[in-house]
Amino acid sequence: MKRNYEDPVYKEWRQRVYKRDKFRCQMPNCKCKSRLQAHHVRKWSSASMLRYDIDNGITLCRKCHESIHGKEHLYESLFMEIIRKNAS
Ligand SMILES: [Zn+2]
Repeated sequence: MKRNYEDPVYKEWRQRVYKRDKFRCQMPNCKCKSRLQAHHVRKWSSASMLRYDIDNGITLCRKCHESIHGKEHLYESLFMEIIRKNAS
């Protein structure tokens, strides 16, 4: 299935992720508030069950999102920890 950014369910998921993260990039030492994107901690393609789980999403700015491209798995545990903290 192809990702549809206009899907209302996807938009809702993204908004909830942003809100939990207070509309800031969650990369340590960044925290910027512009050009935000919602990153799937576990891959969109491989974790279909988690696609709309807000505990699987984290707010990143475009720059940070691009910087982890291809090495997303290295950030999984760091992001999970940040998400857990933000959710509590
Ligand atoms: Zn950032």
